[in-house]
Amino acid sequence: MTDCKTGAEHIKSLKDGRTVYLDGKLVGDVTEHDAFRHAVHSAAALYDFQVRPENLELMTFQPNGSNRRVSRGWQMPRSYDEMVKRRKALQAWAALTCGYMGRSPDHLASALVGQRMGIDIFRKHSEERAKAFADYFDYATKSDLFLTYVIINPQAQRSKAWGEQDEDLVARIVDEDTTGITIRGAKMLGTSSIMANEVFVANLQPLRPGEEDLAFSCALPMNAKGLRVLSRKSYEAHAVSIFDNPLSSRFDENDALIYFDDVKVPWDRLFVYRDVDACRAQFHDTPGHAYQNYQAQIRLSVKIAFLAGLARRITEAIGTTNIPSVSEKLGMLAAQAGMVNSMLSGMEASGTQIGEWYVPNKHFMYSAQVITQDLYPRVIDTIRDLAGGALIMLPSSVADFGNPELAAIIEKTQRSASMDPEHKVKFLKAAWDAIGSEFGSRHTQYEMFYAGARFVTCGHSFRTYDWNNATGLVEKLLSSYDLQSELKRLQH
Ligand SMILES: Cc1cc2nc3c(=O)[nH]c(=O)nc-3n(C[C@H](O)[C@H](O)[C@H](O)COP(=O)(O)OP(=O)(O)OC[C@H]3O[C@@H](n4cnc5c(N)ncnc54)[C@H](O)[C@@H]3O)c2cc1C
Repeated sequence: MTDCKTGAEHIKSLKDGRTVYLDGKLVGDVTEHDAFRHAVHSAAALYDFQVRPENLELMTFQPNGSNRRVSRGWQMPRSYDEMVKRRKALQAWAALTCGYMGRSPDHLASALVGQRMGIDIFRKHSEERAKAFADYFDYATKSDLFLTYVIINPQAQRSKAWGEQDEDLVARIVDEDTTGITIRGAKMLGTSSIMANEVFVANLQPLRPGEEDLAFSCALPMNAKGLRVLSRKSYEAHAVSIFDNPLSSRFDENDALIYFDDVKVPWDRLFVYRDVDACRAQFHDTPGHAYQNYQAQIRLSVKIAFLAGLARRITEAIGTTNIPSVSEKLGMLAAQAGMVNSMLSGMEASGTQIGEWYVPNKHFMYSAQVITQDLYPRVIDTIRDLAGGALIMLPSSVADFGNPELAAIIEKTQRSASMDPEHKVKFLKAAWDAIGSEFGSRHTQYEMFYAGARFVTCGHSFRTYDWNNATGLVEKLLSSYDLQSELKRLQH
C-alpha cells in the first residue's frame, strides 16, 4: 500500500493535549467530544479519500526528497496544466463536504505554496527568516500537515490603530532570548483550529511604523504551551441527528479566538520578525494572497453548485419548477453558478508565469472575491424566496417518525409533487440546515467576511486593476477629436 497520511493518523495526531475551551470547560480530547468529533472525522475522511488507490493520482503527489505522497494542495504548479490538475483535486475534496468546510487543509497549503513561491521576498527582508520559512514549508509539505491560520486582530476599537489598542488585546512580542520570542494577546478567528495540527500566525491587516512588537509571523503546534483556543458555540453539539442536521452535525469546522498566553516561539518557527513591511509583503508581494483566495474560489464553485441543486430540488418538491417566474429565478441561479466557474477558469487561463511558477491572475481573483462575497447572501435570499414555508413546516425532529400517531399525520401532510413524505422531510431539513440554521447563517457571515470586509476586498481590486488600459481607452477616444478642428468643421 502507498505510504500516505490516513484519517486514523490525523485523528491520532489531534490527541495532543491542546487547550480548547467550550461552555466554560476545558475540552479533554477534541476527537471524542460531542461538540467536535463528527467534524474531526469529516476532516479525517479527507485523508482517507485521498489514500484510496483509485484516488491517489487525482489527489496526491510525491514531493522531492520524500517517500510519501501528500495532498496536491501542497503542490507548486509550474504550468497551467499543473494548476488545473491541482484544482481538480481541491474540487474533489470540497465535494466531500458540499463546500461547507472553508478551512480544509488545502486552504493553508495554498497560502503557504504561494508564499513559498515568493521566497525571494522573505530573503529581501531577512536571510535567516527566509530559511526558517523554507524549512517549515518543507516540513509541513512532507508531513501533509493540516494547518489553520489567525491573521486578523480581534475587533475592538476599529477607529484606533492596532498599536493603540488596550494592552494584551492584539498578539504581540513581549519578550525574547537566545531560544526565540514570547508572544501574548489574541488573534481571530481560528477556523478549524480544533482539528488542525498547527496554526500559522501572521498580520494581514496593515501595521504602521512603530508597531514592530505586533509585526511577526510564525507557526505553532496547536498544543504549544500557553496557546488557548476559545471555541465559539458548537453547532455540532446542538445538532440532534444527521437526519435533522446533515451538515451542522458533520461539517461544523468551528471558529475560535486564539489567546497566546506567553507562548514561546523558537527562532526556527519565526518567519517575520519585528518587520512591518515584511508582514504585508509575505501575503501581497508573494503569490500567497492570490493562492489562498484562489483556493477559496475553488471551494466556492462546489458550494454554489450544491446551492443551485438545492434550489432546483426545492421547486421540484413543491411543484413550482415550470412556473415561468420560478424557472427564471432558477435560470438566474444557474447563471450565477456558471459565473463562479467562469471566473475560476479565467483566473487560471490568464495566469502568469513568475519564474518557475504559474500563478492565477490576481485581479481576476480579487474580482471574483468582491463579486462572490456580495453574491452569496443574494443566492441564499433567492433560495428562501423559492421555498416559502416548506422549510419550516417540518417535524420537530426525526423522533416524530418514531411515534406512530405522528408518523401517520406526517404521511398525510408532507405531500410533494416529486417526493414521498419521508424523502421530502429529509431533503427540506438538509436545505434548512444549509441556508437557515445557525450553522447556515454562520456560512453567510463566513462568505461575506472570510477574505475581509468589502472595503478591503474592493481595495485589492482597485489596486490590482489595469487602470492604464481602461483610462487609455478613454484617452484614445478623446484624442480622436478636438475643439479647434470641430469649430473649423462647423464653419465650413
Ligand atoms: C466565520 C468567520 C470565520 C473566520 N475565520 C478566520 C480564520 O480562520 N482566520 C482569520 O485570520 N480570520 C478569520 N476570520 C476573520 C475575517 O478575516 C475578518 O472577519 C475579516 O477580515 C473582516 O475583519 P473584521 O471582522 O475585523 O471586520 P472589520 O474590518 O471591522 O469590518 C466590519 C465592518 O466595519 C466597517 N468598517 C470597519 N473598518 C472600516 C474602514 N476602515 N472603512 C470602512 N468601513 C469599515 C464596515 O462596515 C465593515 O463591513 C473569520 C471571520 C468569520 C466571520
